[in-house]
Parts: sequence; structure tokens; C-alpha cells
Amino acid sequence: MRFLPVFLDLRAGPIILVGDGELALAKLRVLTAAGAHIRWYATDKSISPSDRLAALGADAARQVEILLDDPLAADLHGAIAVLSAGAGEIGPAVSAWARAHGIPVNVMDDLAHSTFISPAIVDRGDVIVAVGTNGTSPVVARRLRERIEAMLPARIGDLAGFIGQRRKEFHARIADFPLRRRFWERVIDGPIGELVLAGKTREAEAALEAIDNPSAFAEGPAKGFVTLVGAGPGDPDLLTIKALRALQDADVVFYDELVSPEILDRVRRDASRVLVGRRIGNPGIGQDAINHFLIEAAQSGKRAVRLKGGDPFIFGRGGEEIEVLRKAGVAYAVVPGITAGIGAAAASEVPLTFRHEALRITLLTAHKAKDAEVVDWSALTDTKMTVVVYMGMTAAPAIRAGLLAAGRPPQTPVGVFARATRPDAKSVVGTLDELPALAAQVDRGPAILIIGDVVAHSAPWRDAGLKHLLSTLEMAAE
Ligand code: SAH
Repeated sequence: MRFLPVFLDLRAGPIILVGDGELALAKLRVLTAAGAHIRWYATDKSISPSDRLAALGADAARQVEILLDDPLAADLHGAIAVLSAGAGEIGPAVSAWARAHGIPVNVMDDLAHSTFISPAIVDRGDVIVAVGTNGTSPVVARRLRERIEAMLPARIGDLAGFIGQRRKEFHARIADFPLRRRFWERVIDGPIGELVLAGKTREAEAALEAIDNPSAFAEGPAKGFVTLVGAGPGDPDLLTIKALRALQDADVVFYDELVSPEILDRVRRDASRVLVGRRIGNPGIGQDAINHFLIEAAQSGKRAVRLKGGDPFIFGRGGEEIEVLRKAGVAYAVVPGITAGIGAAAASEVPLTFRHEALRITLLTAHKAKDAEVVDWSALTDTKMTVVVYMGMTAAPAIRAGLLAAGRPPQTPVGVFARATRPDAKSVVGTLDELPALAAQVDRGPAILIIGDVVAHSAPWRDAGLKHLLSTLEMAAE
């Protein structure tokens, strides 16, 4: 290591910036955003200081002092660092002058004349990650920063702040240092930390306040946490960043049949995976047993993930599960997923709403013909409404009958989108009148039915139109 990372206190004094142009302005943006006080020796004298300040904006301008004097004659007293950006030939002179005053100096893109270098920064409030490459490759540092950005929860800084505010109090309550460290590890790794990261600060505070005996808490059994995670329709790239993080932090994952193998591949290698799915004709282990598993996992200190196809709150019984968890006093968070209807629509280019044509969407489930009988089809006849049906394959004939009887036109465009966003996706389009035959064509679920004029804008509809045109042309040629 040639350069030792340290964090400079921006309140200790001004930063001297020498130079001009894009490089200097980029530095100014970073420094003003960080809250630094900057004395800027601008080298381009053709722009007046007042014009420059106006360009910076009122907030930033308050932190910047613009000087047109010779930077090499400046008073460096109390300055914490000197930066030379876009200063051209005077860079080395600025460097010599700063070193003579014993002040750290960075000349941009000039390692030989720098006594410090600027890292790539991930800024999450109280958590700051600095990435350096000893000045060898800023591009590598930037790439690394992007990865860290994706890895770190957005609220990690809040978690640091949350603990920072309470450290003194618990210092007084836990005398023993190793025990104190274990206490904070428990807080960070357990439900309290997860609640802060999920933005539920008030609940986290209440949980922390409820700890009567911090030493016993530190030494006692760890408490777990349940995250309900929406896995999306199948394509693993459609997982949210939060979902991916939950999968990689999990000790145990309880997943549905609908969760694709590609998504299970993203689960932490040594996490246990438990299939708890239900399917038509196979009742699975049942909701009560699932609830029991979740509570038991959390109470034994595990980070449990309940992984569901699509979104947990769309025909996914997520609502019931969090009710049960709440009653059992188990801390939880919900991570949304892309629901199958939205995923299928995007994959096949069905714009679910369309100016003037489709102004409303209904998400509907019709598991069995019996379910279709209880749907009030008369509420779904508005031609400006797109109807998205989940679990509607078996009931396709009943759905057709219900909608036609209620008065939706038989020529209404419909699509059946099976295994959407997966490698074996298949979609067929046609009219409402043909719906049962279309459903039969896709052979296997899971599938979404979309009913409404917007299906005529979809990619399969355009393809079907093209095929029709080609076969007409062929027939004409023969
Ligand atoms: N919570 C899930 C829905 C569960 S109900 C969600 O938000 O998507 C199960 C139904 O979802 C299936 O019967 C099917 O209609 C639909 N479905 C799930 N994944 C699908 C996919 N990849 N393609 C088409 N439909 C899908």
C-alpha cells in the first residue's frame, strides 16, 4: 500500500482549489456536496467571480470563495488540503508550494506531484466507502464502486447513525467490552438492524427500548427475521436489488413452485431451501404449516426468506402471512416483486394502459370454473378496461362465457402468455371468442390471460398479422 486511506474533517479548515474548466468544476461539485469550505483560485480570469457564483447556485455559492490572485502567493494558513485540477503548467509549482507549507496536495492525473489521491466514493450518510487503486486505475476504482453501491443497503448510513446515537447509553449499561461488541452485533444482524434497513425506524427504536437487560440480550439466543420477497415472474434479472440482497443474506428460504430454478441459483450457497409450494392437484404442505415454519425459523434466530413468485401481495397470500407473523411477535419486512401480469405484458409488449384506449386495469383470479361463476362479469365489460387474469387457464371457457354474456364484444383481442420472461415462454393471441382454444395451445402454465383492445398493440399480435399476410400472399401466388 502506498496511499493510506484516511478521512479528513471538512470542518477543520478550507480546501484550496487551483484551476479551471470541467475538472475543477467536477471537483467543486463533489466538495460542495460534501459540505466543504473551498477557496478557489480560478485560473481563467475572463469569467467574473459573480458569474461563477451565480452558476454554482445559491447553496453551493455559500461554501465557495473565489479569488483571482496568484495562487502561489496565497495564504495557506489552516488549509486542510490543496487540489490542483485543470491548472495546466502551474500544477507542479502548486505542488511544491503546498509541500513547502506541509499541506497535503493532489495534482490531478499527476501522481508524481501528489502527496494524496482522491478515492472513488460511496456516500451513504454516516457510512462512507472509499475505493483506491494507489492511483493506478481510476476506472477500476469506479467499477468497484458501482458494485459496492449495488451491494450496500440504501439505509446502511441510517443504521450507523441509529447506533451512534445510542452508543453512550449502552456503554453505560454494558461495562464489559467484548459483551458490548456482541450486543451491537446482535442488534445489527438481528431484527432491529433489519427494521432500520427496511425504513421502520420507530419499530426498531421500540424493539431496542424493550431490551431490559442488554447483557442477557447479548448472550442469549439470537432472534431471527422473516423477509417476504417477491421473486418476479421468472427471469432472475428482474429481481430487485433488495430481493437479491435478501436471498444472499438468507439462512433459510421457503419457496413456491412458481419460483424458477434460475432464481434459486441466486440464493446464498449454504442457505437451506425448502419447497412449500402448492399446485392444482397437489395441495403442498398447506398454509398453516408454512406459517409454522416461518415462525419457528425466526424464533430459532434464522434469517428466513419467504420467496414467492411475482409479488407477495398479488394473489400470493402475503397479507395472511404477515398477519400471522405480527401476532407471533416476529419482525418482518416485505420486498415487492414484479407481478406476473406486469412481467408478461412487458415481455410481449402489451401496453396495459394506452392513451384514450385503455384507462383502467383489473387484476383478477379465476382458479376454477367455480371461481369464474362468482365473478361479477358485468363490472368488466368497459372496453377501456384491460383485464389481467391470474390462474385462469382451467377456467378459460367460463371466463369467455361470463364476459360474452355480460356483453364484452366477442372480437375483443386477448392473449395467453405462458411462462412469461422464462426461456420457454410462449404466447398466443386471438379474440375473446377463441379464448379456450388459445389457452389449450400453450399446453403448460403458469400463464396469464390479458383481455382488452391493448393486446392488438402487442408483439405476438403484430407477428400473427404478419404470418396471416404472408400466408395470404402465398395462397395468391399459388
Ligand atoms: N404472486 C404472483 C401470482 C401468484 S398466482 C404474482 O404476483 O405474479 C399464480 C399465477 O400467476 C399463475 O397461475 C399464473 O397465472 C401467474 N404466473 C406466475 N408466473 C407466471 C409467468 N412466468 N408467466 C405467466 N403467468 C405467471
